[in-house]
Amino acid sequence: MFTKILIANRGEIAARVMATARRLGIATVAVHSDADAGALHVRHADVAVRIGPAPAAESYLDQQAILEAARATGAEAIHPGYGFLSENPEFVDAVEAAGLVFIGPPAQAIRAMGLKDAAKALMEKAGVPVVPGYHGADQDPGLLAQEAERIGYPVLIKARAGGGGKGMRLVERPQDFARLLEGAQGEARASFGDAGVLVEKYVTSPRHIEIQVFADAHGNTVHLFERDCSLQRRHQKVIEEAPAPDRPEAVRAAMGRAAVEAARAVGYVGAGTVEFIADGAGGLTEDGFWFMEMNTRLQVEHPVSEAITGLDFVELQLRVAAGEPLPFAQGDLTITGHAVEARLYAEDAAKGFLPATGPLDHLRLPPHAAFARAPVRIDSGVEAGDAITPWYDPMIAKVIVHAPDRAAALARLARTLDETEVAGCTTNRAFLAALCRDADFAAGRLDTGLIARKADALTAAAPPSRNALALAALLAEGLLDPADPADPWQALAGYAHWAPMDRPVTLHIGDREATLTLAVEAPGRFRIADAEGARTLAVQQLGAGRYRLGEESLSQTLSAVRLTDRVHVFDRGQSHAFASPDPLAAAGEAGQGGDHVAAPMPGLVRRVTAAPGAAVARGDPLLVLEAMKMEHTLTAPRDGTVAEVLAEEGQQVAEGARLIVLEPDDA
Ligand code: ADP
Ligand code: ADP
Ligand code: MG
Repeated sequence: MFTKILIANRGEIAARVMATARRLGIATVAVHSDADAGALHVRHADVAVRIGPAPAAESYLDQQAILEAARATGAEAIHPGYGFLSENPEFVDAVEAAGLVFIGPPAQAIRAMGLKDAAKALMEKAGVPVVPGYHGADQDPGLLAQEAERIGYPVLIKARAGGGGKGMRLVERPQDFARLLEGAQGEARASFGDAGVLVEKYVTSPRHIEIQVFADAHGNTVHLFERDCSLQRRHQKVIEEAPAPDRPEAVRAAMGRAAVEAARAVGYVGAGTVEFIADGAGGLTEDGFWFMEMNTRLQVEHPVSEAITGLDFVELQLRVAAGEPLPFAQGDLTITGHAVEARLYAEDAAKGFLPATGPLDHLRLPPHAAFARAPVRIDSGVEAGDAITPWYDPMIAKVIVHAPDRAAALARLARTLDETEVAGCTTNRAFLAALCRDADFAAGRLDTGLIARKADALTAAAPPSRNALALAALLAEGLLDPADPADPWQALAGYAHWAPMDRPVTLHIGDREATLTLAVEAPGRFRIADAEGARTLAVQQLGAGRYRLGEESLSQTLSAVRLTDRVHVFDRGQSHAFASPDPLAAAGEAGQGGDHVAAPMPGLVRRVTAAPGAAVARGDPLLVLEAMKMEHTLTAPRDGTVAEVLAEEGQQVAEGARLIVLEPDDA
């Protein structure tokens, strides 16, 4: 076994690999860009090496810098994680030429599966069922249109070098083919530097079912059952589970056999995933699934398979890479229970799932294990105080649950998501929780179109409850000090220096506003008037940002956090951000011209979340300034594109200094 490995990745997957390495007594080397100098994966490593500036092309994709880091630290092997260099055969060759071990498949297996058209041709030869279609070399648009006719509409155009759902177009009518082909080719050229496409029959009621495979260098190849990843948005996975619901044993056996055939056909070694598309219309059948592609790496969703098999896939990867045989045969493997994973992203579901960068001012997770099998497992690459930057994937965490059966797993996932508190950047948390409670999903009636069909209902935000509004108003006015509930002077603060007179408070919730009137009746007792009338509310501070609110015999527990310019209330799965009247925020707005953001006061630049070229919407956080011992988020004054970032993290700036410049508004 190795004594020291380098992880050529960042975020949760880098931390994930390190957790297993540490358990096995293997030392770890992290590599990082300037944007990640203080990142969690750096904090978790034994040694960390800077490999370049923030853009991935100049750091995480810089093969020479990574090999140099391995040489300088004496690492014997390199784990590529997923994304970045994980499926780059030239990198595998370079690692081996440097005398190091690549923890992944041989370069020739990656090459064979790298282009979807060549992979399909190879699979056809190996007797694996492939999606009917055209995967030839001739890319003449007339010929492609003719092939589409032959295949029969609807068809799917796919970039042969594609990944991450990019370069794909569904074509339903022949008259749209030429236009959509151009779009797919353009996106393919821009994203992958290769405009080549294939055309496939579009499977109706598609279900994405993939098989995890593992092979060692001694000729053993097994599969570790399937995952159902049919809950997708724009061809990207949102929720994954194992095993697949409502799947006959004979179908599993047939898919498993086909996946093992596929791996054997390319001389596969290590962890891989064979992705199939299945026709879910009339239930899964033994001849109703087709090969789509093989991902020659550890997959984002591998923890659900770890949960049901009781195995650590990173440990298996390390053992296989070190030359050990797989410690089991196919017949030794069994499934226990059901596991589901949800990808928690910094994105705004209500605004068409736009990535939403920003500081993670508040991140509180329910009890869980990290990077290890457990009833609730949360794998994350960030902690409270870190930021989601525009440089990399905006994933915050993977929330994985394991339970005796599917219904229990979905209930546990919904509950875990409800109890996850994030403030600072918008997340898809409520959307994920709504999905877990969707009746069709719960009944196992899922296909890749489910999310699109129900997007409006799944992203609808509930208005704040009376209690949530009241708590926000009390916090905004400083009548409840969350700092130290044990301090009797603080507990009495509102009462002591504020006479029992009515005081109006206006809160902004998105575009709406609510006005309440507050009066202190006694310590912990308030008279509150809102749109529904006046009432007396008792508020007890339970510590750690938790409050019990009640009227007479009925009470409720809510969580809340007060940030510089707003209050967040977490109310049984609903999360509400209330902008409060704040002098700093007012100053911030006054200091912002139409085309730039200036410092409203002298201060220290804490975080820069804007990057040149990034598209921003009015109100998006761009930069965090620390002034008067408080952090203040400066936001975009209008929709536009960031032209220049004139401030650096850690820089002291004067009042009125221009920090961010937007491109001129043409409109
Ligand atoms: P698929 O490629 O079939 O969608 P996954 O869902 O496992 O398989 O992976 C999604 C892709 O998203 C990865 O291949 C990778 O390119 C990209 N990706 C996701 N998160 C990260 C990350 N933290 N760093 C780099 N790439 C990432
Ligand atoms: P990527 O490399 O982007 O992961 P895939 O070929 O795996 O590309 O396809 C991504 C997703 O698109 C699949 O998970 C599936 O939901 C959908 N898809 C792909 N091929 C088909 C098809 N022939 N019919 C219907 N849906 C498809
Ligand atoms: Mg895929």
